[in-house]
Amino acid sequence: MPYAIDETHDPNLKSWVESANDPQSDFPIQNLPLCVPRGTEFGAILPACTRIGDYLVDLEALSDSDLLDETLSGPDWDHYGTWEPERRLALRKRLSELFSEGNPELRDNEALRGRVMIPMGDYEFEVPFYAQDYTDFYASINHATNVGSMFRPDNPLLPNYKHIPIGYHGRASSIVPSGTHIKRPIGQQAPAEDGGQPAFGPCKLLDYEMEMGAIIGRGNKLGESISIEEAEDHILGMCILNDWSARDLQKWEYVPLGPFLAKNFASTVSPYIVTMEALAPFRCAVAVRPEGDPQPLPYMDSATNRESGGFDITLEVWLASAQMREQGMEPIRLSKGNFRDMYWTIAQMVTHHTVNGCNLNPGDLLGSGTVSGTTRDSRGSLLELTWDGDPFANPPVLVPGTQRTPIVLPTGEERKFIADGDEIIMKAYCEREGYRRIGFGECRGIIEPAHSS
Ligand code: CA
Repeated sequence: MPYAIDETHDPNLKSWVESANDPQSDFPIQNLPLCVPRGTEFGAILPACTRIGDYLVDLEALSDSDLLDETLSGPDWDHYGTWEPERRLALRKRLSELFSEGNPELRDNEALRGRVMIPMGDYEFEVPFYAQDYTDFYASINHATNVGSMFRPDNPLLPNYKHIPIGYHGRASSIVPSGTHIKRPIGQQAPAEDGGQPAFGPCKLLDYEMEMGAIIGRGNKLGESISIEEAEDHILGMCILNDWSARDLQKWEYVPLGPFLAKNFASTVSPYIVTMEALAPFRCAVAVRPEGDPQPLPYMDSATNRESGGFDITLEVWLASAQMREQGMEPIRLSKGNFRDMYWTIAQMVTHHTVNGCNLNPGDLLGSGTVSGTTRDSRGSLLELTWDGDPFANPPVLVPGTQRTPIVLPTGEERKFIADGDEIIMKAYCEREGYRRIGFGECRGIIEPAHSS
């Protein structure tokens, strides 16, 4: 296990950056995520940064000083993502030391501090990694069963599901950073009756999917695979992922080759890569498979994966309509789920993805699939959340206005799917007794009307 708990996770560790010591901060000294801000202060150059409390820290500027031996640059992290885990860990330890309460090296070097410490302003962020490829999995059995019940009432969970981490190849070109406005997609929708003409126009059933993304650090050569024991060495860290989904387009196009235009118009990621090192205290056992379920084939099984392949990460989805924002209302929370409920682990996804010799590259993004639990309020998409019925016995149809319970907003507006002007906000964080809470920041996006076709 390359990512162990060490002194950088000590819950008593405090920083001379006061705002990092706020117990509710996503960015205490125990986190130190990677990010790539964009803003006038930075000109055209995109610096590799970390964040502590309410400050960004320019790691490139810091690496120009004699306080840091390494050289870093964003957003491809090509001097970082491909390092051995041991070297990454050494950098984490050094940063932890530099920001620790009582360490004067940077704190008392006013000139250098002025160059590297940037107060958080209204910065926008770039996608914090350079993805050449993006694969989206489907690893929550609760989500797969719910959606399967709607799309295929007689056959919700296909027989391969419990043997293969199901995935499809997504589109890296439309991965966008948090805050990017998303245009409602236009496309073909299923005919009202079998054999009829498809409708064409702006998507009517626009949805989000609450997911986690894993970012590949070191890749593998074409023709070689990554074993389950080595899989986590190849992961740089995690971010929040909103896999925007056009359900009506999806229903019409997904047979026989899977999602296409329903999914590739935008995928939003949070601005920070929370590293695998930072996540070490929040690992957990794989969710127990119900009795009678097959065990993974040996190439996707290891003692380490069984015991600590999971992550205890809480995910929340919030919504603010344009009217709510105009009236100064706070967003409302739609759901709250946990990543530990997944049927397949990230390590199993990496191993399965490469078992045929497919090569992963540094920066590639692996989406987990929608994170849905067993309770209604833990369902990670509106498709599931506004679904009115017994998820296993009374499957509804995908027609707007029928068999769906709308969510009522504080303004009295109702939502079965996303309306123009709605902002979807996803948050994720890790909490565990005896450890300092760390967070992933936010993954936000406002839906704009479709362009006129
Ligand atoms: Ca998805």
